[in-house]
Amino acid sequence: MSTRLYEHPIFLEHITPEGHPERSDRLRALNVALGHPHFERLDRQQAPQASEDAVLLAHPEEHLFAVMRQVPEEDGEINQLEADTYASPKSLQAALTGIGGAMAAVDDVFTGKADNVFVASRPPGHHAEKSKAMGFCFFNNAAIAARHAQLKHGAERVAIVDWDVHHGNGTQDIFWDDPSVLFCSTHQMPLYPGSGAKTETGAHDTIVNAPLSPNVGSEHFREAFKSRVLPALNDFRPDLIIISAGFDAHHRDPLAQINLVGEDFDWATGRLLEVADKSAGNRVVSLLEGGYDLEGLAESAGLHVLRMMKG
Ligand SMILES: [Zn+2]
Repeated sequence: MSTRLYEHPIFLEHITPEGHPERSDRLRALNVALGHPHFERLDRQQAPQASEDAVLLAHPEEHLFAVMRQVPEEDGEINQLEADTYASPKSLQAALTGIGGAMAAVDDVFTGKADNVFVASRPPGHHAEKSKAMGFCFFNNAAIAARHAQLKHGAERVAIVDWDVHHGNGTQDIFWDDPSVLFCSTHQMPLYPGSGAKTETGAHDTIVNAPLSPNVGSEHFREAFKSRVLPALNDFRPDLIIISAGFDAHHRDPLAQINLVGEDFDWATGRLLEVADKSAGNRVVSLLEGGYDLEGLAESAGLHVLRMMKG
């Protein structure tokens, strides 16, 4: 497989307060892992910055303006947007570059520049609802990428698979009544943000929530994938798979109590590549979401990208 990586130094300049789990060191740890000779063949590219208009693919103008108003101007200043979401002067530029990377990744898999692409960006996106920044997220990168695939490349059915340990409430909110996007999520429940029950299936049964109880591990995660996520994907036959790739279900992660190991992310990636091979011309775009233990993140994301390269 030809695998592309989008990265950009601006992602390190989205600054959160001291002690905040969503911090620049996450990407530094990931960069060290991806520096291993195993990743020599990885096609590394700088993510382009998207225009502000790109945000409107998944959010109303009022939400874009509200975020823009709250980004501080003074160096060193940090503004609190809501409970745990903060913006520093470069945060908007970082968020737009994350969106730009996600959109370029979609372009690459539809034009054949790459089979699959991983976007190592921050801030993350899956908690951002249509009109609300929350959970470290301003704009929903996965949702914008899905809309871009539909509008620019004529994708009819896009699947978003979210294995971040927190429920992707934002993505669910945006696609609740849209039968052209399948949203599948495995996550710990109860846990932030509180949504993601099995009974939340969307207006057209295109939302598949597979909640996991605290303290379970590989076996339950893989079973949820095999019994809920993969059958839904195989029925839906997506033209593109977008992964909301959070690595906070790793057993070392401080924000949750699911006990996955790095190999579980390798396994899940392999299963999604199989679905993509069957219906989506191998097209897979993976976007970094959570993962707050540096060692757990580096190990898990490394195995994820390695699997994408091997196919
Ligand atoms: Zn998370």
